[in-house]
Amino acid sequence: MKLLRFGPRGQERPGMLDADGQLRDLSAHLRDFAGPDLPEAIKTAASVDPASLPLVDGTPRLGPCVGQVGKFVCVGLNYSDHAAESGMEVPPEPIIFFKATSAICGPNDDVEIPRTSVATDWEVELAVVIGKTAKYVSEEDALDHVAGYCVVNDVSERDFQIKRHGQWVKGKSADTFGPTGPWLVTRDEVPDPQNLDMYLEVNGHRYQKGTTRTMVYGVAYLVSYVSQFMSLQPGDIISTGTPPGVGMGQTPPSYLKPGDVMELGIQGLGVQRQVTVAAD
Ligand code: ZN
Repeated sequence: MKLLRFGPRGQERPGMLDADGQLRDLSAHLRDFAGPDLPEAIKTAASVDPASLPLVDGTPRLGPCVGQVGKFVCVGLNYSDHAAESGMEVPPEPIIFFKATSAICGPNDDVEIPRTSVATDWEVELAVVIGKTAKYVSEEDALDHVAGYCVVNDVSERDFQIKRHGQWVKGKSADTFGPTGPWLVTRDEVPDPQNLDMYLEVNGHRYQKGTTRTMVYGVAYLVSYVSQFMSLQPGDIISTGTPPGVGMGQTPPSYLKPGDVMELGIQGLGVQRQVTVAAD
């Protein structure tokens, strides 16, 4: 299933795409795809005949495909060719860091360039949405704890991330730095998360072109790995790193300015499109 949330920010309603790609309203059957209720909501959605659901008129705003995200865990330098363009070594263990959950926004919402920013950058990533509490899970069992997958743009301010000392979190957490969606694609529709093509364009120029085949640490390994350090709950997100082609890796580096248009997608998971604006 392709599950989604539509409507104004903070008032999103649950929906799904039917077999013809039309948006159907699920709000008569369940409250939201969010937080602790996510597994039950997915079960309910699966029990409904999509053709029986009301069609949604027009093209409403899409919200992030999961609400009430408790933790937004990101993985750094998880593609060897991206590590090389960043001038960094592939780490001997996954680098994990957090993005503030207040950065999460809809897949097509405007992305704010923070005040004083001169190095706002893009990162197309495969994100994993947790569907069942995971604590000390093995790699073999890890995917049983995954509800599904979605696209994330791990928008990053490189100076805040790298030059402003301390943790990367400062460069990853501005409002709108986490477009998530357009939909949560349930795990049954993604039999092999390690074989998905992905891309990102800015103003029509394709900067990132990659595949999850070249991830250093795969999805099952990452879910197991993170669960050795913290428990994961339904609705938590792990964003699994970006392939090469970020702005920092260009010669000279190329960063976003107000009015730029980002378009990014992953095979089977849909496409996002954001316009950049200056933060108020
Ligand atoms: Zn990233």
